Amino acid sequence: GGAAEPPPKLVLDLERLATLPSEKAGPLQRYTATIQSQRGDYNGKVLSIRQDDLRTLAVIYDQSPSVLTEQLISWGVLGADARRAVQAEES
Ligand code: C2E
Ligand code: C2E
Ligand code: C2E
Repeated sequence: GGAAEPPPKLVLDLERLATLPSEKAGPLQRYTATIQSQRGDYNGKVLSIRQDDLRTLAVIYDQSPSVLTEQLISWGVLGADARRAVQAEES
């Protein structure tokens, strides 16, 4: 793709994430808690994560990054513009 614009950031909605049942969101909840702990970033309503972390989460969820991104958008944890971040990665 073109390099005119930087890809959008992956910004997780932590308040929304906390309301999701742990059967589906548990691995993501533990992953983000670990990042918050490593950064000492505990009070945020949102958390910006690395592109690399989405790849890692895709392995954990046994899905492609783009399918996982769609799932996180449908859960309300990622905004729809996250789609462009993944397209930038995969194109
Ligand atoms: P590290 O990867 O060695 O990064 C050391 C420090 O460099 C970070 O300290 C942060 O101040 C800065 N840094 C590295 N990459 C970025 C970046 O993309 N953006 C920004 N704004 N700063 C960056 P910090 O935040 O205290 O994190 C400490 C350690 O915790 C990191 O060491 C890393 O091992 C882990 N960590 C923190 N956040 C993440 C994350 O989002 N994903 C992953 N995989 N690890 C993280
Ligand atoms: P932004 O990236 O659009 O983030 C907007 C606001 O979302 C931030 O306001 C903060 O309240 C929240 N936010 C985003 N990601 C995180 C996160 O991982 N943890 C927490 N606790 N909050 C988050 P804030 O802090 O006043 O920052 C305003 C703007 O300053 C940011 O807009 C960004 O453009 C810049 N900025 C702040 N910190 C960093 C950084 O570590 N790296 C870079 N490159 N820019 C930063
Ligand atoms: P950001 O701080 O605006 O950084 C944007 C991109 O610049 C990062 O995308 C990464 O490709 C590069 N970058 C920035 N700082 C560093 C660094 O110290 N080392 C390296 N190797 N690359 C760096 P990425 O990785 O997708 O991260 C997206 C956002 O996630 C970052 O935006 C930041 O808001 C957050 N983030 C990622 N890692 C850390 C971290 O270790 N600590 C903190 N506090 N925030 C992080």
